[in-house]
Amino acid sequence: MSPPFPQLSPDQQSLLTERLLHWSLANGLTMYPPQFKTFSPVAAPMTLFPTPFPREAFLSALAVQETFNQLYINVVTNTPWLTTILESLSEFDPDFTGKLFSTYKAAVQIGIPQPVSMGLFRSDYMVHGAEIKQIEFNTVSVSFGGLSSKIAEAHSYLNNTGAYTADGKKYYDPKALPASESIEKLASGLADGHAAYNESQDTSTVVLVVVQPGERNVFDQRHIEYSLLKRGIKSVRMTLGEITTKTTVDAARKLYVNASGEEVSVVYFRSGYAPADYVNESTWEARLHLETSLAVKCPSLLTQLSGSKKIQQILTTREQIVQFLPDAPEAQLAQLLSTFVDIYPLDDTPRGQLAKKLAFEQSEHFVLKPQREGGGNNIYKENIPGFLRSLDEKEWAGYILMALISPPRYDNKIVRSDETFSEPIISELGVFGTAVFNEQTGEILTNKTAGWLLRSKFESSNEGGVAAGFGCVDSVVLY
Ligand code: ADP
Ligand code: MG
Ligand code: MG
Repeated sequence: MSPPFPQLSPDQQSLLTERLLHWSLANGLTMYPPQFKTFSPVAAPMTLFPTPFPREAFLSALAVQETFNQLYINVVTNTPWLTTILESLSEFDPDFTGKLFSTYKAAVQIGIPQPVSMGLFRSDYMVHGAEIKQIEFNTVSVSFGGLSSKIAEAHSYLNNTGAYTADGKKYYDPKALPASESIEKLASGLADGHAAYNESQDTSTVVLVVVQPGERNVFDQRHIEYSLLKRGIKSVRMTLGEITTKTTVDAARKLYVNASGEEVSVVYFRSGYAPADYVNESTWEARLHLETSLAVKCPSLLTQLSGSKKIQQILTTREQIVQFLPDAPEAQLAQLLSTFVDIYPLDDTPRGQLAKKLAFEQSEHFVLKPQREGGGNNIYKENIPGFLRSLDEKEWAGYILMALISPPRYDNKIVRSDETFSEPIISELGVFGTAVFNEQTGEILTNKTAGWLLRSKFESSNEGGVAAGFGCVDSVVLY
């Protein structure tokens, strides 16, 4: 049985909210508000209480992460297989997937000097029955590893100081509120890439963080940067638009920051995952310039593209998984496979033909996804038939059709911009992973689980983007 939420009087609740907001502003559980013009942050949208989450499902999501990291690394390093799929996918999405892929091919022509690649990954799930079911596997620019550690700490602080009860006692067993060490562990993942770069030399190098102009979620990123700095690793922030004028690649293909002359060990992308990040041709050139430098990319273009929705769809069958994880014990395979729901192509294969029927006849059970990242791109339920009809049938193959997962709803409260909303919420668990690997030989240098994130949103909204205003950061109370 999931634990009930604390029942508080209006006065107690406003005191609790004040404590939560003070803690958030004092500890960097913050973002910039929409259209910000000053440096003043606001508290990130968040839940007042931790949300119940079945312990076994939580532990199994953490336990399967290294297998998922390995699966995607093996996909990337089986380059002929991956590039064949990306070649045909490019036809359906020439403007973005196609551009990323042609930039990769241009890089291959020039020569990719750095065989070592790395990922900060995040595998997202919702609870379905007693199990976790995967929403998607993200291979680029995964966010909220910074704020996740903070919100879990905030909820624990409120619990430990008795703010959830009228008599000042702890409402939850502290052991049911796990910490998320995602800040430390994501920084440690970047430090692994940095160490791999510096193995053959002892110069002092920096991490280049590629950011979006006007990013509201900067503090999430900064927590990871400050943690890196505690390990003695400095980071420098730059937008894609600034790369060509503010960095240089020398004859040995080493990447340098012009202003300081510092050499770059790792390029950490917190931008470059959506079409809007490439405002003009020079931003595509910037990506090529970075890809053909000696710096370790987090992620490389191929690693980023391995996270395409189409790849996720292809990887839902046992035959495919076995091909990529030939040495995995049966229990490990079964655990991985148990996280999948049905995902269909919308092409001329038999499964594709079936999906074309389902999309029209049972649309209420599905979500239609294009090859995009970052939220706000999907088509849900009854909107699917009309959307498909508006396209030429040839274009349908650029989409995947995924069975909807229906997680339990909870009566938590969301605190956003000084307002508290009481509406049923549903939650999505993200598990972070980090890996450093050799893209040419397939050798895996490090493969780690790196903490977790819970995001919640009103049950009534289809998408869960926190920065976009649909969702909020949350933490778990295990039961
Ligand atoms: P993106 O890469 O844009 O984040 P996602 O695949 O994560 O795309 O979809 C965005 C959101 O849509 C998710 O955060 C989740 O709230 C919702 N969603 C996606 N797939 C499903 C699904 N199969 N069942 C229920 N909700 C889903
Ligand atoms: Mg995604
Ligand atoms: Mg997502």
